[in-house]
Amino acid sequence: MRFKVLVIDDETANIKMLSSLLKETYKVYASKSGKQGVELAKLNQPDIILLDIVMPEQDGFQTIQQLKQDPLTEHIPVIFITGLNTQENEEQGLSLGACDYIYKPFYPPVVLARITTQIKIIKQNRKLVALSEKLRAASDAKGAFLANMSHEIRTPLTTIMGYSQGMIAGDIKAKEQPIALSTIYTSAKHLLSLINDILDFSKIEAGQLDVECIHFDLSNLLAELQAMAKELTKDKPVEFSVQFNNALPRFIYSDPTRLKQILLNLLSNAVKFTQQGQVSIICSVNGDFLNFDVKDTGIGIAQDKLAGLFQDFYQVDKSTTRRFGGTGLGLSISKSLANKLGGDITVSSEVGVGSQFTLSCLLKAGSDECFNHLASLDVIRSDHVLSPIKGRVLLAEDHEQNRQLFKLLMENVGLEVETVADGEQAVELAMTDDFDLILMDIHMPKMDGMEALNLMRQSGIDTQVIALTANVMAHDIKKYLAFGFIDHCAKPIDKYDFIEKVRKYIEVDTDLDLSQVESSQKMKELTAEFIDLLPRYATDLKVAANNHQFELLYKLAHQLHGSAASYGFDDVSSLAADLEQGLKKQACNNQIAPEQLLICQQLESLLLDVH
Ligand code: ADP
Repeated sequence: MRFKVLVIDDETANIKMLSSLLKETYKVYASKSGKQGVELAKLNQPDIILLDIVMPEQDGFQTIQQLKQDPLTEHIPVIFITGLNTQENEEQGLSLGACDYIYKPFYPPVVLARITTQIKIIKQNRKLVALSEKLRAASDAKGAFLANMSHEIRTPLTTIMGYSQGMIAGDIKAKEQPIALSTIYTSAKHLLSLINDILDFSKIEAGQLDVECIHFDLSNLLAELQAMAKELTKDKPVEFSVQFNNALPRFIYSDPTRLKQILLNLLSNAVKFTQQGQVSIICSVNGDFLNFDVKDTGIGIAQDKLAGLFQDFYQVDKSTTRRFGGTGLGLSISKSLANKLGGDITVSSEVGVGSQFTLSCLLKAGSDECFNHLASLDVIRSDHVLSPIKGRVLLAEDHEQNRQLFKLLMENVGLEVETVADGEQAVELAMTDDFDLILMDIHMPKMDGMEALNLMRQSGIDTQVIALTANVMAHDIKKYLAFGFIDHCAKPIDKYDFIEKVRKYIEVDTDLDLSQVESSQKMKELTAEFIDLLPRYATDLKVAANNHQFELLYKLAHQLHGSAASYGFDDVSSLAADLEQGLKKQACNNQIAPEQLLICQQLESLLLDVH
């Protein structure tokens, strides 16, 4: 777009001369009288005005006064070009608001240079105005975000405090307690996701958002999402499905945690904004990219709002916040993450019909193996069976409730756990007692986890130590690993991930002395829990067999084979092992053979008998 210059001069020769000088670079308008010039300026909004002073009817001084008094023209810079070449006239012109003063007869290159300078200043000013508007909008959004955040944090806290107080006071009846506990858990998880969003946002602002690139099983990730989607949609008439346009590589190189975070955000938005209908993830490979279309049949988004969606704190309207909650950070974080993974997120939507968010990320396959359907992991996750682990663990944690919780979780799987509340005690105990593994909090009174590890190593204690910490920034974790911790566990912990991590570093004793463990009260409780799960296993086996869900059946067989013997159910374990072996042979065509269906039936009735 060319800048516009208005020339106001009563001399036709001057107008012609200035026009020919400027018209190459600028769009030039001209007027031969001050009065008409003012009207033209209001109408055409020139970027700069060149104004003669001595003119009949209305001179240049009167003209600039009119221009500067009118809100429509007051901002337009005016340069006088005049034969009045005294310093008094120049001073008067500048004091009336002109930005420059050029004497006639003028030297054309000087006029051009001075106009160019003014145009540069105009451009600079406009940039500053745009920037300050952007900053103001960002600061308004931040203000609204903080106000909203307080509400977002208080809502789940109210639930957590209300229910837990009720439980402490004994107001909640035993049969309502599981619901109360699961509500507390869901609210705490919501709070955690808010905190994670804020952390991610501040990392993005500081330019410190890092992603990793590791080899992982994409089918597992999608199965996990499928399980989460089932959980999200369980109280709504919304159907969820994962579909494949073509086969995906089973193993890829990318950042599984971040990929899951993006997809989960798109998925939870889709469910949140869909009262009924369908939500689906459609997976495909397109050239060098892996694409995930997250589609819903929800409320949709107006076309003029689409552009703003990926801005920080953006929500389509205030009523959205009131109705559905949220921070307006999810999509902007997701887009930054997608960019970091070498891709992007795009959106298309129609109000009342639904939305489609497409995540693309750079594809780097990790093997030739492909898949185009998913096993349902939900059963496996929710009924996750922890088989016992034998070993002695030293837990150093100063927070009493956390200490009790971690101890209980480990004792529940058969571990012996000694606890201490600071690094000094941890070193003392590690010197006098033998442990298979040490879990060490980092921030502790008297002596922190790093110092304690250091002292242990100096004293010749070489037991593996896991850092147990709420410092989850990539640079913190790198620091702990470089310092000598074997691994880290992020707080708050997930029960299953926590035990899996502990298990990784304690050699599982395959000749587990069951007679010893069985005698303990804990083992009895664990066995009772396992027995309670058996009817569910029987039903899941039946459903998986009837629906030809090969992978699910295989996983169930594998689990039963691995866990049942630990609780003394050798016949269940060996029948499950037969099923697992048989299915393994069929893995090339994913077909469940008739003899395996037979074993399934035997297993089902055995499970129900045992129960
Ligand atoms: P939040 O959901 O926490 O408000 P997001 O950044 O994830 O923040 O989403 C920003 C806004 O975009 C939402 O508040 C909502 O107005 C709109 N939005 C996102 N996904 C959808 C969807 N699937 N359908 C309709 N509106 C959506």
